[in-house]
Amino acid sequence: MAEIRVQNLVKSFGDFTAVKGANFTVRDGDFFCLLGPSGCGKTTTLRMVAGLELPSSGSIQLDGEDVTFKRARERDIAMVFQLFALYPHMNVRKNIAFPLVSMGVGRDEIRRRVEEAARTLRITHLLDKSVSGLSSGDRQRVALGRAIVREPKAFMMDEPLGALDAEFRHIMCTDLRNLHDRLGATTVYVTHDQLEAMSMADVIAVMNEGRIEQLGSPQEIYDRPASLFVADFIGSPPMNFLPFEGQVAPGDTIVTVDGARIAMPALREASDESELVLGVRPEHVQLTEAGALRGEVFGTEYLGTMQIVTVRTARATVKARIASSIPARVGENVGLAFAPERLSLFRGGTGKVLASALHDVAPTGGRHG
Ligand code: ATP
Repeated sequence: MAEIRVQNLVKSFGDFTAVKGANFTVRDGDFFCLLGPSGCGKTTTLRMVAGLELPSSGSIQLDGEDVTFKRARERDIAMVFQLFALYPHMNVRKNIAFPLVSMGVGRDEIRRRVEEAARTLRITHLLDKSVSGLSSGDRQRVALGRAIVREPKAFMMDEPLGALDAEFRHIMCTDLRNLHDRLGATTVYVTHDQLEAMSMADVIAVMNEGRIEQLGSPQEIYDRPASLFVADFIGSPPMNFLPFEGQVAPGDTIVTVDGARIAMPALREASDESELVLGVRPEHVQLTEAGALRGEVFGTEYLGTMQIVTVRTARATVKARIASSIPARVGENVGLAFAPERLSLFRGGTGKVLASALHDVAPTGGRHG
């Protein structure tokens, strides 16, 4: 398998720049997700790495070799798309074998590799069936079979589960990650679904308007979001934001929000902006009798053992994920307490982080440590 190194990658379509200088390395064996909302440049980035789109500038290396201007078929990369383009007139076996036939591989070798791919994907029993009668999950397995049978250096997957219903998607997420591990593959995976990315990736690149806003393991991105955009995009419900005005200095461990003094991680830098935003995830909010920051319970959402309680303060709406056994009545006045070491502080204007949860912990850099 392969390491992929992308440097200063830019893609413009006329006046519009879809990818504005992407830098990242996908380590050999990593499951790497490009995550972001529709139109942020994920697919364009993937297509450049795969060789389906030429960059305006920048470079792409595959296993140390510069492939920036090489054609897709010279890169030894397999693509899997959302719409599994299977040949309806061929059975499963022939669909999987197709790339090997095109490459001129011998019959016995084709049979061996197709059967091995089918075993890996647990679709041996479907090999002689027509693809037209298959469920969408099985059709996507056949499409994956066609990708893995080539034994490529890397897999590029563009929303491969997007056409499946929710239940299948969940099963296929686990299957895909297991498949990646068994093959020792290097995978670049495009999705707009943060839950998919969080559950599968070693490393996530969160993209916004053509830029990578943050690169890190799912836990780093969740615990230490680099910007308001990332903090809002990741997590369900997303992080709560409390805007306030104040002056902060390096070393500060207290901020004052609506008259309430709130302890937080020590600030590393001063802010040249007085508009600030305190961020706290719902699971790090507690309801308390005594809290100086107060609000009114606006709604409760029962989730079994947990509940989401929505509280309206003077200037923000805060959601708390707390045990269902804790009483919370709509209309009640409650205090809010935040876990100090779990808070993030952002600049209001640029949205960049100033201090964040556990920020002195060394980055993990994904499952490879
Ligand atoms: P989606 O999931 O909706 O495809 P994405 O993050 O993958 O989103 P891209 O497909 O990379 O986004 O597109 C990024 C931007 O570039 C979009 O605004 C899109 O309209 C534009 N774009 C992509 N391809 C072209 C093209 N060939 N010509 C002009 N604009 C393009």
